[in-house]
Amino acid sequence: MMKFCNFELQLVVLTFWFCNRLKTEYIIFYQQLMKTALFIDRDGTLIVEPPVTYQVDTLDQMTFLPGVLRNLYFIRKNCSFELVMVTNQDGLGTDVYPQKNFDTVQGKMLEILKGEEIQFDQIFIDKSFPEDNLPTRKPGTAMLTSYMDGSYDMTHSYVIGDRLTDVMLAKNLGCKALLITSSVETAEKELKEAGLADSCAKVVTSWNQIAEFLFAGERVATVQRTTKETDIFVQLNLDGTGKCDISSGLGFFDHMLEQIGKHSGCDLTIHVKGDLNVDEHHTIEDTAIALGEALLSALGNKRGIERYGYCLPMDDCLCSVALDFGGRPWLVWEADFQREYVGDMPTEMFLHFFKSLSDSAKMNLNIKAEGTNEHHKIEGIFKALARSIKMAVKRDIYKYELPSTKGTL
Ligand SMILES: [Mg+2]
Repeated sequence: MMKFCNFELQLVVLTFWFCNRLKTEYIIFYQQLMKTALFIDRDGTLIVEPPVTYQVDTLDQMTFLPGVLRNLYFIRKNCSFELVMVTNQDGLGTDVYPQKNFDTVQGKMLEILKGEEIQFDQIFIDKSFPEDNLPTRKPGTAMLTSYMDGSYDMTHSYVIGDRLTDVMLAKNLGCKALLITSSVETAEKELKEAGLADSCAKVVTSWNQIAEFLFAGERVATVQRTTKETDIFVQLNLDGTGKCDISSGLGFFDHMLEQIGKHSGCDLTIHVKGDLNVDEHHTIEDTAIALGEALLSALGNKRGIERYGYCLPMDDCLCSVALDFGGRPWLVWEADFQREYVGDMPTEMFLHFFKSLSDSAKMNLNIKAEGTNEHHKIEGIFKALARSIKMAVKRDIYKYELPSTKGTL
């Protein structure tokens, strides 16, 4: 058996590390050279698909989905995707769907797009019926083999469509889909049932969301914070839909944290294992720290955000939370509580939670609340915080600037 002296062993480890590093750098460099594409469905995605016939065969039926022209132009100008149209046109060229009718609509659509400086690099049309089971028909990839020869970076390419077959096409191509729909909840349920959830990057309801996703990405952060007192996992998506998965071991605290996710529109997962055998203090304080870190991390470069948020929700109470993601912590707290506990949460920890949150997210928080029902009062504060976050993180890719005159936040 070979024996290494300490120096030789270090040399082997160093060489191994260097080769691995070189390999990673090469993969990144190679990916940058590779092309990326958007495989875009036509009916139901670019233009409205008529019910019953599902055929757009006259000009008066042709209507673009809202925001298609503006956002496709933005994508064309600001992203490096090739635009590839992939469409199934059942029975095209037969008596039930004359070629002439299709050509009239398709020609007009392409003419309008061209007028907006949007041109497709390739257009693929399958004319078969579903029962033909041809490999060229979506979700088959037989028309798209040239994109699967290794010259395209499929991990950064997307299928954009309105049906599960479009998501299946993405799966078959080795990329992900952006599924456009009117109901995110229904679509996500259907994706899950079909086992396609992992092949869909995002379910969207508008072309504004598609352009924002492709240009600026989703603002997500994961924080794992482990000490001898608490073990905390936080996952935050500022561009989510308000989905929550919260468990802190404190029922009332869970209820409050759910207000943040639900009313801010952010997807929020918080799992906490705290030393509740001591008391509630570390669990609440450390959760605020981890959540603040997640907020700061997810905000990233803060370009295009509103930055400020302000809200005044009311039950029997009047609560306001104004915030500024300006990069500095500060807390103004004007809320008195007479009870020692609300649920299983000590009222003295309310101030401590928001102070810790403000410190770790580096944001100003100005919180005021008045009223008599203490459950309503603290719940109003959490809801107002959520709405303020929703206002402040709102991002505009058409005004993608840092909202600061000093040039940093
Ligand atoms: Mg479609």
